[in-house]
Amino acid sequence: MTPATRSGSRRVLLVTPRGYCDGVERAIQTVEKKGAVFVDESEEVPEGNIVIFSAHGVAPVVHEEASGKLATIDATCPLVTKVHKEAVRFAKEDYGILLIGHEGHEEVIGTSGKAPEHITLVDGPADVANVEVRDPDKVVWLSQTALSVDETMGTVDALKDRFPNLLSPPSDDICYATQSRQIAVKQMGAEADLVIVVSSQNSSNSVRLVEVALSVGARAALLVDYAEEIDESWLADVRTVGVTSGASVPEILVEGVLEWLAARGYDDIETVTAAEESIAFSLPKELRRDLRRRRLTDQSARFCPH
Ligand code: SF4
Repeated sequence: MTPATRSGSRRVLLVTPRGYCDGVERAIQTVEKKGAVFVDESEEVPEGNIVIFSAHGVAPVVHEEASGKLATIDATCPLVTKVHKEAVRFAKEDYGILLIGHEGHEEVIGTSGKAPEHITLVDGPADVANVEVRDPDKVVWLSQTALSVDETMGTVDALKDRFPNLLSPPSDDICYATQSRQIAVKQMGAEADLVIVVSSQNSSNSVRLVEVALSVGARAALLVDYAEEIDESWLADVRTVGVTSGASVPEILVEGVLEWLAARGYDDIETVTAAEESIAFSLPKELRRDLRRRRLTDQSARFCPH
């Protein structure tokens, strides 16, 4: 932990890293350069428009539906794409693939769609007993990128008990951003009476942050979309409030929470730094191509006045 402390009896532990991961940052930059509205199905997109696939990734069937009718930009996070490629490769080698993840999550739907005949979802350790495979000696596990590291390892251990020859993926599927945010919350959570995770309720990586905070001893840990959702009664007997945010949460919402807390006497902020992040993904190739073309057009317009 790297504390930067000011004195005071009510304090806030603000963790780093928090908020936008690079996969989300990349998807947001893509959207900002194009302008966008959100849709659930490609058929909702009027002809002549461009579809951007989100950082979670989509199933091949969605790519197929869009292709031909619409121009597409694939903003799937490269770390999700890595899991997709592993799924395709192990399916080609005829492995049974045990995908650890949460049923119904967009990323799980996208990954499962890459090799539907070979993938079986395992939704936590309690699900292991129900898993059926074709050949128990030819199975590999993969996982959703934004899971709890500890719970996933618990699921893997339970799977290994059932399938001793279970193969592991060549590298961790749980992404660096998920891991570093969980490590930061572990460092902060043990000292916090209350942990506030700024995020929507349906964010998988944020729900994991709540679980991690509780697992290391935080008395309470709650998700809020923004400051106004905090209930003053939560602060009863609370001296230390831990604050973090989910991977798709803009920093302005965290600032709102800090202001709300400061107005109630929690104005002594310590930063808890667990890791410095230095990963930077390049923009999707379709967008890079488009930006290059636009730059060339601008340049030629400058050189040729006609
Ligand atoms: S949480 Fe991880 S896998 Fe998901 S978008 Fe961010 S960096 Fe990519």
